[in-house]
Amino acid sequence: MRYSALKVLTQGLTGNKGWKRVWRDPEPKAEYDIVIIGGGGHGLATAYYLAKAYGLSNIAVLEKGWIGGGNVGRNTTIIRSNYLLPGNQPFYELSMKLWEGIEQDFNYNAMVSQRGILNLFHSDAQRDAFSRRGNAMLLSGADAEMLDQNGVRSMYPFLNFDDARFPIKGGLLQKRAGTVRHDAVAWGFARGADMRGVDIIQNCEVTGLAIENGVCVGVETARGAIKTKKVASCVAGASNRIMAMAGLRLPIETHVLQAFVTEGLKPLISGVVTFGVGHFYISQSDKGGLVFGGNIDGYNTYAQRGNLPVVEDVCEGGMSLMPMIGRARVLRMWGGQLDMSMDGSPIIDKTPVEGLYFNGGWCYGGFKATPASGWCYAHLLAKGAPHPTATAFRLDRFKHGKMLDEKGVGAQPNLQ
Ligand SMILES: Cc1cc2nc3c(=O)[nH]c(=O)nc-3n(C[C@H](O)[C@H](O)[C@H](O)COP(=O)(O)OP(=O)(O)OC[C@H]3O[C@@H](n4cnc5c(N)ncnc54)[C@H](O)[C@@H]3O)c2cc1C
Repeated sequence: MRYSALKVLTQGLTGNKGWKRVWRDPEPKAEYDIVIIGGGGHGLATAYYLAKAYGLSNIAVLEKGWIGGGNVGRNTTIIRSNYLLPGNQPFYELSMKLWEGIEQDFNYNAMVSQRGILNLFHSDAQRDAFSRRGNAMLLSGADAEMLDQNGVRSMYPFLNFDDARFPIKGGLLQKRAGTVRHDAVAWGFARGADMRGVDIIQNCEVTGLAIENGVCVGVETARGAIKTKKVASCVAGASNRIMAMAGLRLPIETHVLQAFVTEGLKPLISGVVTFGVGHFYISQSDKGGLVFGGNIDGYNTYAQRGNLPVVEDVCEGGMSLMPMIGRARVLRMWGGQLDMSMDGSPIIDKTPVEGLYFNGGWCYGGFKATPASGWCYAHLLAKGAPHPTATAFRLDRFKHGKMLDEKGVGAQPNLQ
């Protein structure tokens, strides 16, 4: 079924009785050409592009819970392409371009809202660093604008500009950045993949990998063994657990990242704002809730809830940036398992085990990467070679010292 305004109108006038299931609920088959582990954004996007761009449909996406139950449904929905390094920036710009056409492409309303992101700077040195990043963005074809204090005041007059410790001196603005409704992304890709014949199998945890003579030939699951030619891991915070099944250790640690949402308020913050001296960023959802977050909890964990010291740290950041936020009541908070790579950049690559592929290490920022990650992983799986935009995301870069060290150039390099 193709969605359209006419469809919504006719369904509305006829009691909404004609809507069909958005994806099937198939039993796993004994064998597939490709098995994708993880029904998050990246796994579903990979399946979608494999089917759409390469005509491959004998594919299963195996999800241990329900699709959208992982980080794709837990993140703070920010998309942007404001990176610095040549290995990263063009990839995130590719992702931004895919976001710009995604709703028409997969025929699903994902509420893509290009409301802009503003990274605040608070010192002259930080201004220099942000100018450099803005120039790198322009060179890759992205948009970037430096604002002085008056420019920021005209957008967000209520910020704490003259704070004695952290005066706001200006900001780096990317207007094409914004937010996308996160779980709709999972649903849109799932629907598009299912329509093209991909089996999306929920409640199907992968419990082991079948490896014969150094070749991965299948997976063990809670619903039986499945044979396949290619296994594509795409499990974000569970990456180490899956790769350990093949005896591989990754340059990745799993941490929990928390997010918060307040009661609904009248429109206050039009875009996304990041504080430049503490871990705090904020936007406002279409329902009016202030959505904000900060840094990861510092210890390794597979839990999906965090602890109070980080809550305190995030709230301190919020109070420094916009003291009136102290009047808002927090309604909900939650956490997700992040796959933190050692240089802050992702991995999309083959592994030393033939037939076993890996996608992970997305750190704080994998949601914005979802379309490009799926696009490039599908290319790797279909063609056996990395996509030209993702050649730097090699697994062996840590062995050879070719790190893509983006972690020191974010909004708060001094805090990483
Ligand atoms: C609080 C928070 C805020 C964030 N904010 C942003 C943001 O604003 N912008 C941004 O770009 N990024 C953000 N991120 C990061 C982003 O959400 C992740 O990097 C990205 O979603 C990870 O990819 P994914 O969607 O495929 O992961 P997931 O949705 O986590 O998908 C992985 C799936 O694998 C499944 N799985 C695990 N083990 C198995 C197994 N053994 N068998 C079968 N299935 C398995 C899991 O159940 C899960 O559904 C945030 C993350 C969090 C937690």
